[in-house]
Amino acid sequence: MIEQFLNSSPIMIAGPCAIESEEQMDQVGEFLQAQNIKFMRGSAYKPRTSPNSFQGLGPEGLKILKTTADKYDLTTVTEVMDTQDVELVAAHTDILQIGSRNMQNFSLLKAIGRSQKPVLLKRGLMATIKEWLSAAEYIANEGNHEIILCERGIRTFENYTRNTLDLAAVPIIRNESPYPIIVDPSHATGRKELILPMSKAALAAGAHGLFIEIHPNPPEALSDKDQQLNFDEFKKLLKALP
Ligand code: PEP
Ligand code: MN
Repeated sequence: MIEQFLNSSPIMIAGPCAIESEEQMDQVGEFLQAQNIKFMRGSAYKPRTSPNSFQGLGPEGLKILKTTADKYDLTTVTEVMDTQDVELVAAHTDILQIGSRNMQNFSLLKAIGRSQKPVLLKRGLMATIKEWLSAAEYIANEGNHEIILCERGIRTFENYTRNTLDLAAVPIIRNESPYPIIVDPSHATGRKELILPMSKAALAAGAHGLFIEIHPNPPEALSDKDQQLNFDEFKKLLKALP
């Protein structure tokens, strides 16, 4: 899997923040297939800041993810938050995502390292590049070298954007690591109008791919509604990218 990221033109991974319903995922799957996009994201387990926010559909969401992927021939990425769920999540997806908040959850890193599934490792929101690469090493040391690194912004004093996108990480990772590096401008900025310029900048910096949140109806989304692009907005973005 990582060879594909390293050797082909930049890879687009798109989909909703959370899996919300069969209908929502079917709309996304059909749309991505029509755009000739092969990779779909969407999570059934959501690490929410508040325990009172939507936490994801869990196992039911995983089933919806798999059904959609099979129907539209898509490769999927979904988050696993807990060591006890690794097997179940792995049975329903192609790539396991480790979220920013779990980048230093060492038992999760080790469990996923033993799973033999490709892993998308997000940068911790307070993590240095060195700590991030050490997290990747935890996975690799268990025998799993199928790792994709994802820069998703770090927390700084700047609060105009949700996080600060550290684009220097892209050439640094290219120089220092054997793993592909992709960029998530959605969580990095939290603002729709910044997704296109930051996507262009990420590709110019050498990113192997982009990871973007889209939703059939963002104002109704159960999580991250301000940063998810609707289908028309995403089509415009695809047109505007090199
Ligand atoms: C996500 O990609 O669904 C997500 C929760 O992002 P992050 O872990 O980067 O906050
Ligand atoms: Mn999100």
